[in-house]
Amino acid sequence: METKIFKAADLPQVIDLLKSGEVVAFPTETVYGLGADALLPAAVKQVFAVKGRPADNPLIVHVSDFEMTKQFVEKYHPLTQQIIKEFWPGPLTLIFELKKGALNPVVTGGLSTAAFRVPDNKITLKLIKEAGFPLVGPSANTSGKPSPTTAEHVYHDLNGKIAGILDDGATQIGVESTVLDLSGDVPTILRPGAVTKEILEDVLGIEVPLDAHLVKETETPKAPGMKYKHYSPDTPVYMVENSDWPAAIDWAKSENLRVGILAGPAISDKFTGLNHFIFENDSIEAATHGLFSGLRALDQREDVDIIFANVFSEIDLGLAYMNRLKKAAGQKYFKK
Ligand code: AMP
Ligand code: MG
Repeated sequence: METKIFKAADLPQVIDLLKSGEVVAFPTETVYGLGADALLPAAVKQVFAVKGRPADNPLIVHVSDFEMTKQFVEKYHPLTQQIIKEFWPGPLTLIFELKKGALNPVVTGGLSTAAFRVPDNKITLKLIKEAGFPLVGPSANTSGKPSPTTAEHVYHDLNGKIAGILDDGATQIGVESTVLDLSGDVPTILRPGAVTKEILEDVLGIEVPLDAHLVKETETPKAPGMKYKHYSPDTPVYMVENSDWPAAIDWAKSENLRVGILAGPAISDKFTGLNHFIFENDSIEAATHGLFSGLRALDQREDVDIIFANVFSEIDLGLAYMNRLKKAAGQKYFKK
C-alpha cells in the first residue's frame, strides 16, 4: 500500500479514506495518532494490526467536543464540567463509564469504561467535526518504539502499512496525554502527562492521587497499556543523574563506546565532540518535547553505541518525562 502524505487542504480525501475503513495518522499537540473510525470495528482492528498492539490495551477515542461523548457515556463524574471547561481541548484524556454496547469491545479491550479526549490541533478538530465520527488514535508508531512527534517518524515506522499521514509538522508537547480516571469516586491519574498532578490539584482544589503502580513499581497498573514495554530504541539507554555525567562519559570512553547525549546545553557543552542530540534548552519542557525525537535520532546514527539521557526530578512535568525515560532505559541508571 502506498502511504500518502496529506496536508490541511486534503481533508476531504482523508475523510473519504477513513469512511471507507482505512487507517490514517493524524497530528495532535502531544504525539501523532493512528486514526480510524471508532465505530468501524474492522478499521479499529487494523489499527491494532499495523502497530502490533496487544488487544487488551484499549484505545483513546478522539472527539471534537464534549457533546460528542454523550452518545457513549452512561454517567459523568460530578467534576466533569469543571475539568473539561479548563482542559479541553488539551492533553488530558478522561475515562468514563460507558452505556452498554455503546462502543465495540475492540476499542475498549472489553472494559466497561472508555477513554476520551479532545485534541488541541486545529486540523484534527476540523477533521473529526467534518467526518462526524470519533477517531481512535493510539500513538502512530510500532508498539514498543518511541512515540512519533513528526510525520517523518510515522512514515519511518508505518510506511506501506497505512493509507496516509496528515502532516502538520512537529507536535508541541512531545509525550502522550495525561490519563485521568473519572469512572470512580476519586479522580485518579493513570498516566502522567502535560496536565500534571500539581495543575489538576490546583484547579480542582482536591488531592488527585496517582494510580498505585506510579508510586510503587510492583503494583499492577489500572491503565492496561502501562504494563507494556515502551519507547525503547535498539541502542541501549542509560539514565544519568546530574552529578554522574563526568564519570559516565569517562566510563564510556574507557570502554570505547561512542556516546549519544540527550541533555540540555548546560550538560552537553561540557562534552564537546559527542553531543549528538541536544535539547533546545535545559528546561523540562524542552526535554519533554525532545525526548522521543532525540531517542529516535540517536538510534538511527551509526556512530552511537550508547545513549546517556539526563534525569529530571519527578515533579510537575518531570513525572511524565521520567515515566517515559525510565521505560526507554529499561529502568537502567548509570552508576559509578
Ligand atoms: P495510547 O493509545 O498509546 O495513547 O494509550 C492510551 C492509554 O490509555 C493506554 O495506557 C491505555 O491502556 C489507557 N486506557 C485506554 N482506555 C482505558 C480505560 N477504559 N481504562 C483504563 N485505561 C485506559
Ligand atoms: Mg503509544
